[in-house]
Amino acid sequence: MWKCPKCGRSFEKTDQPHYCGKPSTIDEYIEGQDEALRPRLKEVRQIIKEAIPQAQEKISWSMPTYWKGKNLIHFAASKKHLGIYPGGEATTVFAEELKAYDTSKGTIRIPWKEPLPRDLIGKIALWCYETYQS
Ligand SMILES: [Zn+2]
Repeated sequence: MWKCPKCGRSFEKTDQPHYCGKPSTIDEYIEGQDEALRPRLKEVRQIIKEAIPQAQEKISWSMPTYWKGKNLIHFAASKKHLGIYPGGEATTVFAEELKAYDTSKGTIRIPWKEPLPRDLIGKIALWCYETYQS
């Protein structure tokens, strides 16, 4: 294992070329995550994009963000889970369907080991899109 002294990420190969800096696009953000997590991050990105194709992708608060006039929903990789941040109201509205997951106000944590609840994520993204813009 080699740890990049600049960004602190670990790689199998010493001096592994990688994106090493603050991401300014979702592509760069995903590129900057551990290789094992990237397919899952691409999957969640695709789910949200399909649910709300009119929203714009950007980085906000250092997280992949979907935006339309305001921030609608974010996601982010953390060590043990994928975090989805739809806002505090959304986790209350979808509390029943989110029962299987570790949630707190505005945060949904999906362990990397578990499959993504595709339909539910799409539904929440759409709810954010329809609710936060008005
Ligand atoms: Zn680096």
